[in-house]
Amino acid sequence: MAPYEPVYIPVPADWSIPPLHFQVHDSASFGSITFFDNVKPPALMLEAVLHVLKALYVPESVPRHVRSITLILRPMPGVAHTTSNTLDDAHKEIHLSSQYVAKNAGRARDEIYGVIVHEMVHCWQFDGGGTCPGGLIEGIADWVRLKAGFAPPHWSRTSPPEKWDAGYEQTAFFLSFIEDKYGSGTVVKLNESMRDGRKWDEGVFEGVTGRGVEVLWGEYRRTFGRTSGGNGGGGGGEPAVPTHGV
Ligand SMILES: [Zn+2]
Repeated sequence: MAPYEPVYIPVPADWSIPPLHFQVHDSASFGSITFFDNVKPPALMLEAVLHVLKALYVPESVPRHVRSITLILRPMPGVAHTTSNTLDDAHKEIHLSSQYVAKNAGRARDEIYGVIVHEMVHCWQFDGGGTCPGGLIEGIADWVRLKAGFAPPHWSRTSPPEKWDAGYEQTAFFLSFIEDKYGSGTVVKLNESMRDGRKWDEGVFEGVTGRGVEVLWGEYRRTFGRTSGGNGGGGGGEPAVPTHGV
């Protein structure tokens, strides 16, 4: 029998990645067993961090306020949420529902990766000291998920949402449209505009693209055909379901 050789994933030094921890609270549940059958926690967390950092930063601009990230797999309602250790905001916690993993056993790997990439964005993004619209916070998180290739089948662009900051994949597709039309880097600049607690200012859209957000929104809405169901992207056609808690 050949000697055991673990697959070692080197942590890139230039990204200054903090310690990544993992806890499982119901290791014998169907959801947890499904989790371990489909992902390896060290690779999952490291890859999720790298997806987020490469989408929003360069090594020199990575925020230094995150001191650790703990993924906690446990039985709970809902999907997942991100919070901080009650004693220290620098220690982030991502809680993932083992019941949700069980419900998505058929596509567990991609769904786990997608949800964790989304939550990982919340560990690293700026929020303008709480002034950023919730829809943009969630839209940026799903934009990174989309960019990382983990858009779930139920995401759909079959009809335009009511407003640009409707959130989640609705805003993610809008951000993706802007990146495609006006060049990549828009989302990076939106995020950077709120660094160090600077307040959110909608005018940043105009500063970056030369057009105000409502003009951009109008351009985006016009990409949807009246009867053809838009220009693709999400597929599936099922009702969009929020895939996480926070
Ligand atoms: Zn979220």
